[in-house]
Amino acid sequence: MTTNSDIYQRRDASVARAIAYSSTFAAARAKNGEVWDVEGNRFIDFCGGIGCQNVGHGHPKVVAAMEQQIHSFIHTCFQISPYENYIQLAERLNELAPGDFEKKSLFFSAGGEAVENAVKIARYHTRRPALITFTNGYHGRSYMGMGLSARMNPFKAGFRPFPTEIYRLPFPDSFHGVSLEDTQRAFKTLFNSDVQPDQVAAVFFEPVQGEGGYNIAQPEFVRYLRDLCDQHDIVMVADEIQTGFGRSGKMFAMEHYDVAADLVCVGKSMGGGLPLSGIVGKASVIDSPPPGALGGTFGGNPVACAAALAVLEVIEEEDLLTKGLKLGEWIDAHFQKMAKKQYCRCIGDVRALGCMNAIEIVADRETCEPDGDLTTKIVQIALSKGLILVTAGPTRNVIRVLVPLSTSFDIVEEGLSILEESIKEAMSTTG
Ligand code: PMP
Repeated sequence: MTTNSDIYQRRDASVARAIAYSSTFAAARAKNGEVWDVEGNRFIDFCGGIGCQNVGHGHPKVVAAMEQQIHSFIHTCFQISPYENYIQLAERLNELAPGDFEKKSLFFSAGGEAVENAVKIARYHTRRPALITFTNGYHGRSYMGMGLSARMNPFKAGFRPFPTEIYRLPFPDSFHGVSLEDTQRAFKTLFNSDVQPDQVAAVFFEPVQGEGGYNIAQPEFVRYLRDLCDQHDIVMVADEIQTGFGRSGKMFAMEHYDVAADLVCVGKSMGGGLPLSGIVGKASVIDSPPPGALGGTFGGNPVACAAALAVLEVIEEEDLLTKGLKLGEWIDAHFQKMAKKQYCRCIGDVRALGCMNAIEIVADRETCEPDGDLTTKIVQIALSKGLILVTAGPTRNVIRVLVPLSTSFDIVEEGLSILEESIKEAMSTTG
């Protein structure tokens, strides 16, 4: 039998070490909210391929749609021999994305590519250079992605120089002591000292910062950004790559707010596990660049588009938005209860928007000092007990939940019990 350790030895010898890993097993199969390794061990999956499996691993409808498309054709390149399911997906997204205006869409492969292209569209549309982004934001690993993202280690360190004309302002976040007034003051200072608003092409933000630690944007902040963008004709870009497709309890997290972005970047769960990303937004903005200015060989691959259309059907047929909201509320209640226990005193904050649940692990509740080492220990113990977790936050001290929305309450409960035991065990061996 092939063992996990055999595979890891080969991996270390053959795969670049920069491709880090947080697990010690090699996946053999996955179904809905569970994964099995090559030795037959079972894991509950609170990670879902980092938020790509909102409808669950191997959903029969999604697999059938992929299979059917594979038997017709796998790739033609949409710009050369276009196909209907790309257009159908654009039509569906145009209907579903928030905003009472005419919309258009276009597709790519990785989320980071959608971000790159949103920059291109915004700059072309406005003929302006500058971009505004926020502390703890994450928008991908390309050069523009690194420029827009806030975390130095391990994402940016050693990779200078980064693109210019990117300005980072504080993201309002009450737990970490940043108020909306702080952000508004920073905008004023920026416009007075570094860049005039009429030189700003776009503001990029995540409605819930994913990699940044599940910091939830306040409604007043999102409204403030909308007003500011309207006042200065700046393109407002919501990066919904992680928050989209039901994760927040709505199809798009922006539906929690009473304003719409001009462009929305999508990816991850849209493709049901296949590489598919895109931008949906105001037709008048998206249609600024001329024919041929945007695109790519694989963007909107037909098998991925077929999967995405099936993902949308599954979300609707199984009412996964309601299920996700219920699941999220229930996980939140569990986390709140856990946080009251003495051995869970390391839980400094519990956050949730829909099924975007997180706990922030701190060394001291008074000072809110982050404890990344303890978080790593909890994650490792949980893995040894059969639960896959994923962290977030500038010091990796946030445990975020990205469990498939289709996972049964029983399995999620089993996972939550493992998490609680793991915290207890980690705390008992910590000074
Ligand atoms: N934006 C956000 C908000 C993300 O969460 C991610 C991925 N974690 C990206 C962009 C980049 O997507 P990808 O890794 O598919 O390029």
